[in-house]
Amino acid sequence: MSTVLDNRKKKSGGKSRVETKTRPRAARPRTEHKLRAQATAGAAVVRTERETGEPKLINRSKEWKLLYVPYPFDESMKITSGHAMESMAGVEVETYKDLCLNCLKQDACTMPRPEGGVWRCEQFEQRTATIEAKPRKVSVHENVLAQFNRAADTMGLDSNLRKILAKTTNETVVNFPVKMDDNRVEMFTGYRVQHCNLLGPFKGGLRYHPAVDIDEVRALATWMTWKSAIVNIPFGGAKGGIQMDPSKYSTSELERITRRFTYALGSNIGPEYDIPAPDVNTNAQIMAWILDTYLSTVPPHDRQRCTHVVTGKPIEAGGSAGREKATGQGIVYLIQEWARERRFDLSGATYMVQGFGNVGSWAARLLKQLGAKLVAVEDVSGAMANPKGIDPDELVKYVSGHKGLIGGYPGAQSIDRETFFKTNADIFIPAALENQINAQTARWLKVKLVAEGANGPTDLNGDAILQEMDIEVLPDILCNSGGVVVSYFEWLQNKRSESWELEEVDGKLHKLLVNAFARVMNAARTFNVDTRTAAYIVALTRLETAYKKRGIFP
Ligand code: NAD
Repeated sequence: MSTVLDNRKKKSGGKSRVETKTRPRAARPRTEHKLRAQATAGAAVVRTERETGEPKLINRSKEWKLLYVPYPFDESMKITSGHAMESMAGVEVETYKDLCLNCLKQDACTMPRPEGGVWRCEQFEQRTATIEAKPRKVSVHENVLAQFNRAADTMGLDSNLRKILAKTTNETVVNFPVKMDDNRVEMFTGYRVQHCNLLGPFKGGLRYHPAVDIDEVRALATWMTWKSAIVNIPFGGAKGGIQMDPSKYSTSELERITRRFTYALGSNIGPEYDIPAPDVNTNAQIMAWILDTYLSTVPPHDRQRCTHVVTGKPIEAGGSAGREKATGQGIVYLIQEWARERRFDLSGATYMVQGFGNVGSWAARLLKQLGAKLVAVEDVSGAMANPKGIDPDELVKYVSGHKGLIGGYPGAQSIDRETFFKTNADIFIPAALENQINAQTARWLKVKLVAEGANGPTDLNGDAILQEMDIEVLPDILCNSGGVVVSYFEWLQNKRSESWELEEVDGKLHKLLVNAFARVMNAARTFNVDTRTAAYIVALTRLETAYKKRGIFP
């Protein structure tokens, strides 16, 4: 349910009343802070009719005109004080996204939207109240579904398939105990969501992060299905993770957590069924522990046939040449394709990177090799810039001695987040977490291209703004697919007991991505849509064709 607080007279026979109607939730940008807003007395609740989308107003006292509600308020919004609002004090109200109360048309108002979370009233009265609202965490899965529905509408996706793909296939949640170094036992919650295995086994990374939850994992699993379909590899989509902050644990604790998680997942993963890989805060070492634990649970004579249960392993434990850099390498191949089409010279071009982990640091290093200049970086420890250039190779060395963080690097000036987003650069590579490019930050960008290394770095509002600002996008499901492609190569090598040279891996990766890029650009031209919708259309077309051939059991 979504509603908004407002103060305005409703001419309904002179009587006020509260309407309670529901409407489907729209995706809303995430804001971390608590928002305090001043609203005037006579607050009314606006609810929206499901059928018409028109808000209805309920008058409480004076004629009010709230101009804009800039934030996606949450269900937890509360009126905490207020002289003339005593009757409503403490009442929980549901609130509404980006609703311009000037015209009362959600998303349709052309009025300039103020930054920050302040309600502005045309007619100010001394009777005020304090509203405390904690914005709802954006649902990443809502984001995926909105992207999916947009593409499905455009291409006229089969209505049955639409129902199927909007849902995940299996969702596993495991709670498991692990003994800590000090002999305490801690409980952990792990997830594995399998979205679709029509085109091949479920495939997708494992993330260790405090924000991991079922909604996020669902979204990430769904994106994996589209990704594998776009690049034409025989995998479906899955994702998993553990809700925790790995920086709080020792290496031996991390090993026990990983092994216990693998054991708890049991036969929900398997080399021909569901194959995990690294993602945020997981790496080759963690994959090696998963491999070893999984192999310990199968009979000895089957073990050598199961090394492809996980990809992204260390080379010595069955990994592939080129897997560690694969996602960054893929991003750079695709940027090169984009530059070739646009006749844009990458040597001397400037770029900024958010997230300096596996994906961000490799993309940065490989772009440097093309003569481009890194001018700003941000990670969880803060942001820094140097218009003369930051050497990514030097930064990688620094980071490896500083707990993986860029903070304190002497070769750049420390800057705040807003300045980071406003950096003058040609290319922005978000390579951290979801929803970083949103209604606020998108407007700050001054780049020509956003090459999405992260999964879901742009929310729906951010996406619309990028289009409005004519900033081109290499969408995540295409742009970061290099990782799953080389995972596929690793999987194949394990199955065939082969070991490919780096040149072979890179050559095959390049070919697959160049073809995928061409398919997406072609779909963008054919359907006259943005590149994200085009990438979805490519993926959904492949899935639709397979479904139509196979039919639905029984
Ligand atoms: P990683 O753990 O190696 O690095 C994550 C980086 O993001 C770190 O530098 C961290 O400091 C930074 N970060 C975290 N929170 C941040 C914040 N709030 N603001 C700024 N920076 C922040 O993870 P990774 O493997 O590089 O993955 C990064 C992104 O790429 C994720 O979205 C992941 O799903 C996606 N991805 C990864 C792969 C892969 O092969 N590893 C493949 C495809 C997509």
